[in-house]
Amino acid sequence: MRENKAYYRDGRAPIPKCEHTSRLMSANKGKNTKPEVLFRKALFASGIRGYRLHAKNVFGTPDLAFLKKRIAVFINGCFWHRCPYCKPHMPKSNVEFWSVKFEKNVQRDILKMARLRETGWHTVVVWECQMKTEMGAIVNQVANLVN
Ligand SMILES: [Zn+2]
Repeated sequence: MRENKAYYRDGRAPIPKCEHTSRLMSANKGKNTKPEVLFRKALFASGIRGYRLHAKNVFGTPDLAFLKKRIAVFINGCFWHRCPYCKPHMPKSNVEFWSVKFEKNVQRDILKMARLRETGWHTVVVWECQMKTEMGAIVNQVANLVN
């Protein structure tokens, strides 16, 4: 059977029918996402420096890693990582595809945290939505670990 090529954008993900989902997907580029940049600016403003970005030699490639202090920071987009706080939008089409994808993301996150903690790392998960209301508290949490 022939595949409907028009249905796929890059062979990985179905084209979202819903505009909201489409916007979220386009905004996701893996690295240096908007939430990441926002958080790094907040750290910079608080004088926190000395982390590595997307360090491949650290398990799970944390978004930020303070190597000496063994602090791994993950900045999670609520949609992709299925935030437990704001209960993000679930695409209405291709539900099965998304369910599988989200489940994989969530499981991968759980594994990363567990493995890092087992190997003596502190882990900090920053949710995109929390940054809107609790940026100060999150930055303090990181500052307390770093300093
Ligand atoms: Zn959220």
